Amino acid sequence: MKRQTILITGASHGIGRAIAKRFALEGFSLVLNCKTDITLLEDFARELQQSYGIQTLAIPGDVSDHAFVCELFAQAKAAFGGVDILVNNAGISHIGLLTDLSIEDWNRVIATNLTSVFSCCHEAIPYMVHNKSGCIINISSVWGNVGASCEVAYSASKGGVNSFTRALAKELAPSHISVNAIACGVIDTRMNGCFNADERHALEDEIPMGRFGTPEEVADLAWQLATAPAYLTGQILTIDGGWQ
Ligand code: NAP
Repeated sequence: MKRQTILITGASHGIGRAIAKRFALEGFSLVLNCKTDITLLEDFARELQQSYGIQTLAIPGDVSDHAFVCELFAQAKAAFGGVDILVNNAGISHIGLLTDLSIEDWNRVIATNLTSVFSCCHEAIPYMVHNKSGCIINISSVWGNVGASCEVAYSASKGGVNSFTRALAKELAPSHISVNAIACGVIDTRMNGCFNADERHALEDEIPMGRFGTPEEVADLAWQLATAPAYLTGQILTIDGGWQ
């Protein structure tokens, strides 16, 4: 039986890396992407291959570039025939007042967090429709639900991901392809490395669970979504320790 293939964008660090490990454990073939830390990604892919006896393909590049995404999926198709599960995880944050945000920063956040989701889905869907099965998981944020001060571009990009998820789920339900999003609260990754100890404690105090979430908890939820009943689609699942 052909092994299932999962493609994860932004898999070198944090949440994407934990998702890669979770699906490696389940025997999936992995297509892993990141933008800059190429050696880290290649070492990680090799490590998973050796530890779990699976096939991996590391393809560095910028998912905000539509031409690169076409190449990414062409390489995935050549290696594994196509992608059964797509995890749109790559993302960046930008903190600052809207009036200090340049048009270049705005475009970079929207292109990386939202346009990349369009590009990857655009390239993944034909194979899934042909198979009449597939699963798309978009990694979103609670800020996409409620908005955050000084993170307007980021909130808009994740709000866009949420609406994109709901709309595409309706379009793809007749083809038996599920489309869901995971809206993360504060997860302990490099993205939150900007907080000093006092800021971190203040934030932990705001979270009913009293701590940041772990990338492994998000990865477990991604696995549960991938194995959920087919009828679960078009949902934005929040994982935030009861915060928002
Ligand atoms: P992270 O540790 O900074 O990892 C981000 C990953 O995305 C890295 O592998 C990075 O690779 C990759 N990436 C960034 N820009 C890319 C691009 N243009 N093309 C390809 N890969 C790119 O962040 P994280 O916390 O795991 O975030 C993962 C996702 O979760 C993001 O979508 C983020 O918005 C979402 N999220 C996180 C939190 C949180 O609290 N951590 C909360 C809500 C939502 P390079 O380093 O090589 O560029």
